[in-house]
Amino acid sequence: MAWEKMLAELETSRQNMDQQLVTICTIDSRTTIYCAKGCSNCCSLSVNCSFPEAAAIAQSLTSEQRQYLADKLPTLHQICRQAENLKLFLRLFRNRLGGCSFLDKEGRCSIYPQRPFSCRSLLSTRNSNWCAVDFAELHPQEKEAFLSSLDRQIVAFPTHYLAASQELGLEYESLSLSRMRDSYGFSISGNLLYQVWLETEHRLSEVIKGGYGQTRRFLKEQGLDLPFLLQLRES
Ligand code: SF4
Repeated sequence: MAWEKMLAELETSRQNMDQQLVTICTIDSRTTIYCAKGCSNCCSLSVNCSFPEAAAIAQSLTSEQRQYLADKLPTLHQICRQAENLKLFLRLFRNRLGGCSFLDKEGRCSIYPQRPFSCRSLLSTRNSNWCAVDFAELHPQEKEAFLSSLDRQIVAFPTHYLAASQELGLEYESLSLSRMRDSYGFSISGNLLYQVWLETEHRLSEVIKGGYGQTRRFLKEQGLDLPFLLQLRES
């Protein structure tokens, strides 16, 4: 499948997912969804997505947005060097980068129509204040009370996010990755910020046309194969 066709299919998938999410929320009347316009507390998490999703976002950025992303890179490098494991990486990412690079000054998503499936899939069954909580810093009793208040039939336990929407997001992300594998023999997924930057600065969508081995070599030679940020999978 040609690259452009793959990106066009992505747009269809986004529309389909949005429609299915409306259905999920309508059918699942057992719970209230607290997500609302202007709420961005879950945008402090490290977002992962497929490379085609990131590349589509990269195409639509203004030069200001590109510069903003590039300015974040030194901090991201530092975090990768310091983190001994994924858990620490996620924590440092949240604390040092201060939210997703695509949040505008009013706390709105500046790429909302193209936001990744993983962002679309986060629907909160609790007040949005809980989306900003760092559970590692919460008192154990408070954490316990929160966890036992969750409806395990509905949420993706131990989170308070709706399970059905998360499963849907994963399905669409997997579809995007399998399309990439069908076309290039391998797929790339990982950190949203980093993948978008790789596309804007290094045109990774051109590099991948050389296949898995060439892409791996390119990333290594350019010093771009940082830990925690990218996953390359061969078919
Ligand atoms: S891409 Fe948009 S919705 Fe997703 S975390 Fe960033 S600001 Fe939030």
